[in-house]
Amino acid sequence: MQGYQHIVDDEIINLPLGKVVCVGRNYAAHARELNNPVPTEPVLFIKPNTALASLSEAIFIPCHLGECHFETEMSILIGQPLTQCTEPQAQAAILGVGIGLDLTLRDLQQQLKDKSLPWEKAKSFDGACPASEFVSPDRLGELQNQQIRLSLNQQVRQDGSSADMLTPVLPLLVYISQFFTLLPGDLVFTGTPAGVGSLAIGDQLDVSLSEVIHCRTEVCARKRQSL
Ligand code: ZN
Repeated sequence: MQGYQHIVDDEIINLPLGKVVCVGRNYAAHARELNNPVPTEPVLFIKPNTALASLSEAIFIPCHLGECHFETEMSILIGQPLTQCTEPQAQAAILGVGIGLDLTLRDLQQQLKDKSLPWEKAKSFDGACPASEFVSPDRLGELQNQQIRLSLNQQVRQDGSSADMLTPVLPLLVYISQFFTLLPGDLVFTGTPAGVGSLAIGDQLDVSLSEVIHCRTEVCARKRQSL
């Protein structure tokens, strides 16, 4: 949770730092680039609040655990409880929209997938969820027409549009709330467009959501803790 606070339109929001519900393979081109089938319904997983970090500060990756991939995703800050909700309820509960990285230890994830084991160690480590500040949805315009972009060392690596989500934000929130109650202060990460790749120490990242949010950060090594 180092350095992370919920901020909407430059104001600190006094809500708990909650869980992060993430969706895998929400863009067909990304599912294909990792040789995964395009799913018929959303693939969900959760990062705990200890995975949150500020995308405006240096990000720390545990490089002793193999390749760490960036996945750039539009993020949603939840402002009202949602349990088995409708789309209008989901819409009313969106407090902010931002951008973030679903950091993924890809080698470890592959090992876990090969053994049909859960992904948490690869997806939910401390700092695995650097998230930006948010803007209120009325400042953003059409949710499903936003540019999601990441440049690594000045080269554009991901440049997608939320128009290409297989499950758009509102049906996604409805779907999530059938299984997990979303609480004020929770985040939802909405999946990554194609172009994911690995990070190296010293990489400079520029991450943006349309012309509304821009974050610049650098990749650092997280020291291995002795057990
Ligand atoms: Zn992801």
